Amino acid sequence: MKIRLINENGLRVDGRRPDEMRRMRMEVGVLEKTDGSAYVELGGTRIYAGVIGPREVHPKHLELPDKGVINCRYHMASFSVDERKPLGMTRREIELSKVIREALETVVFLEEFPRMMIDIFVEVIQADGGTRTAGITAASLALADAGIPMADMIAAIAVGKVDGVLVLDINEEEDKYGEADMPVAIAPHLNSIVLLQLNGRMTPEEVDKGLEMAQKAVQKIHQMQIEALKRKYRVEPEGLET
Ligand code: UDP
Repeated sequence: MKIRLINENGLRVDGRRPDEMRRMRMEVGVLEKTDGSAYVELGGTRIYAGVIGPREVHPKHLELPDKGVINCRYHMASFSVDERKPLGMTRREIELSKVIREALETVVFLEEFPRMMIDIFVEVIQADGGTRTAGITAASLALADAGIPMADMIAAIAVGKVDGVLVLDINEEEDKYGEADMPVAIAPHLNSIVLLQLNGRMTPEEVDKGLEMAQKAVQKIHQMQIEALKRKYRVEPEGLET
């Protein structure tokens, strides 16, 4: 039997409108043993990101004489998904580590850190769709928290198509039973898309519309990132306390 993803009122399985994001919460400086860290919650998806470095490259042969290198590991905790997940890194986790790294490399000023390495760890604690995009949003915040110079702070979200309707921020059920999933990461100040993937089928017009929806959402997410950083770093002027 086909699962219905849009009801007679045009609402989605979790009651959202097509252009509605799930509740998003974020915080920086949540992990003591890192140089920078962040927590991002998007509906049921929960992610920690930790940044260590810049520090000496390990293993040494990865060292580059003229710029730094980013090492990125995206990992899902065994208890983050419904089924039994293998303990080692799966092919999917290796692929996502690579695409997240490549998105972040577009904004980090790596030439400022020759012979150094920046480690980025993205740990998915609970997965309910959109882990690569929420992971990028978290990693970007953790880099900022670590004081790594960047041309922009990336934010990301997935759009999708369910029952023929374009929807923002798909959850796991929509990802599983829907027609398409399109994760997008954007550097808003550079006006650049830094990650774009598509699983499934969409018309070119739907891709355009989906990108527009993602862009709007990214503006909001980017604002939330700035607010999260301000909560940690804003210094209240003296004498104004009541
Ligand atoms: N998922 C899962 N087990 C896996 C991989 C994925 O349960 O081994 C779920 C998880 O909720 C994930 C969703 O399927 O968020 C969609 O996965 P996808 O590969 O599309 O990546 P994501 O949307 O998380 O970036």
